[in-house]
Amino acid sequence: MFYQQDYDVIVVGGGHAGTEAALAAARMGVNTLLLTHNIETIGQMSCNPAIGGIGKGHLVKEIDALGGAMALAIDQGGIQFRTLNSSKGPAVRATRAQADRTLYRQAIRTIVENQPNLTLFQQSCDDLIVENDRVCGVVTQMGLKFRAKTVVLTVGTFLGGTIHIGLENYKGGRAGDPPSIALADRLRALPFRVDRLKTGTPARLDIRTLDFSVMQPQPGDDPAPVFSFMGNRDMHPRQIPCYITHTNEQTHEIIRGGLDRSPMYTGVIEGIGPRYCPSIEDKINRFADKSSHQIFVEPEGLNSVEVYPNGISTSLPFDVQMALVRSIRGFENAHIIRPGYAIEYDFFDPRDLKQTLETKYIDGLFFAGQINGTTGYEEAGAQGLIAGANAALQVQDKDPMILRRDQAYMGVLIDDLATMGTKEPYRMFTSRAEYRLLLREDNADMRLTALGREAGLVDDARWASFNAKVEAVEQEQQRLRGQWVHPDHKAVPALNTLLKNPVSREHSLEELIRRPEMTYAALMDIEGIGPGLEDPIAAEQVEIQIKYAGYIARQQDEIAKTQRHENTLLPADFDYSKISGLSNEVVAKLTDARPETIGKAARISGITPAAISLLLVYLKKHG
Ligand code: FAD
Repeated sequence: MFYQQDYDVIVVGGGHAGTEAALAAARMGVNTLLLTHNIETIGQMSCNPAIGGIGKGHLVKEIDALGGAMALAIDQGGIQFRTLNSSKGPAVRATRAQADRTLYRQAIRTIVENQPNLTLFQQSCDDLIVENDRVCGVVTQMGLKFRAKTVVLTVGTFLGGTIHIGLENYKGGRAGDPPSIALADRLRALPFRVDRLKTGTPARLDIRTLDFSVMQPQPGDDPAPVFSFMGNRDMHPRQIPCYITHTNEQTHEIIRGGLDRSPMYTGVIEGIGPRYCPSIEDKINRFADKSSHQIFVEPEGLNSVEVYPNGISTSLPFDVQMALVRSIRGFENAHIIRPGYAIEYDFFDPRDLKQTLETKYIDGLFFAGQINGTTGYEEAGAQGLIAGANAALQVQDKDPMILRRDQAYMGVLIDDLATMGTKEPYRMFTSRAEYRLLLREDNADMRLTALGREAGLVDDARWASFNAKVEAVEQEQQRLRGQWVHPDHKAVPALNTLLKNPVSREHSLEELIRRPEMTYAALMDIEGIGPGLEDPIAAEQVEIQIKYAGYIARQQDEIAKTQRHENTLLPADFDYSKISGLSNEVVAKLTDARPETIGKAARISGITPAAISLLLVYLKKHG
């Protein structure tokens, strides 16, 4: 039976990719259906209760700059906020928040339920309707058919999911949820390249059985950072600390003793796991010389008795999990509420996708999230937003939205996936971006909000707030450029107490901020110069743009140069080892990939702008 109404976009899956995809399409005004297993699990965090971190925080800010939900939801659900790398340069500073799982899920659900043009339906999607290599709809478990112009699949770890605890295993999408077997079989019959990956999660502990007095508390920052450009601190619920404890030699002995019943070490699990989020058995094996590993003890919520011990993800048998947990300081009497486990699932080679995340073989079918071989809520949300937007743009017969590597981490993420694919769960790092100084968290709105507005992703309130900020920043920059301090200015005595070299000639305020020892805030505190901008976010933008102007201009030059040479051909038999100055690693990567053009060479991970410059110089000399 066909459902009486047709849709423009159907999104399958209500996880992090699915909610951003459905919201994006609906914001753009197309008729959207979110079809998911269980409405109660919309926005559910399958693993660690946290959003952001280095590279990931950048993605969250970009999702937000394009009108997405993740940042606003964590502002309403975050119980401990920190700025990581706060003492380092702005490019690598990143926001991270510990989430109250329930509050986060409720926030996402409220945003979804209040989104015009978006309808929900609870059922499993078991089949796709495909006619002449074009997707035309989906079929649910009870045989109900929905017609649609485009379909976005965001089914996470559920495709052919197998859960492992020791040598026991059973089918599941994640603990407590059914797997997607029928859909996995259907997709395997299509011409996509498919493989298996694996990920894992630690046991959850009962807070009432832990001894926090022997652990080190880790409070959040005060004042707490805010994630969304539309957020504020008043949205945050009560803030609480996390704690730190460690594994020890005894823990490691217990783990080694259980490896003969480990699904990973006995070959039962074949899928490759996340290199940067390894299980504890993996860590003690790979770093055998380390006698201890750190564990972040993270509360799961303000009203929850569950604790997430971040750092001891495991798929060892339950009796070994019990013993290893209880060998840890502060966990001696711990009760495990949920056992840790690993899950193996199908993912599709993202090289079978276009840069819009539409599949190359079935028109109108888009993939986003863990199904593309990534790991993490933020990576999933970012892809979801882009896939949902492109599905809507296709329906509207408009040009696709493709973000470049120099525009956004989202661009880096999708370009990496679509051009290079992945053999292990892919997560974002700042080191994956060539133009880190341009792709900062603080300027995500400056980079993307206008683009989002043009596509229809950004509402009036966000657009007005963004324009007010841009105007405030520009006006302040003009004032700083045009206001001069003479040696006899009344502010000079106070100013000299802050400067290494006292004021001996006329300086613009802009020049003074450029000095390493000076900050915008300190300068504005001086009578006769301030008060300056009230909004700390706009003030930060002014300061960063002034202090880093030289470096930013240099990166922009590099981008322009690479773009000019995008189509410059590289001979197929080119001997990269002849270029002096290239590292052995770069030579190996180029020799292996044999890029046809400079543009393609520049997009290979680890090929720096400096390496491209050396290549160009060599080609000019010998070409
Ligand atoms: P999901 O969040 O999995 O959402 C998929 C959605 O699709 C669900 O709502 C599901 O119900 C729905 N669905 C599935 N099939 C169907 C169907 N046929 N019909 C209708 N609805 C369907 N990430 C990390 O960054 N680090 C980690 O260490 C880590 N460990 C993990 C450990 C485990 C055990 C699991 C399960 C996940 C882990 N993750 C980890 C991954 C993280 O949970 C995912 O990256 C993220 O949730 C992916 O988002 P998604 O939207 O792609 O999929």
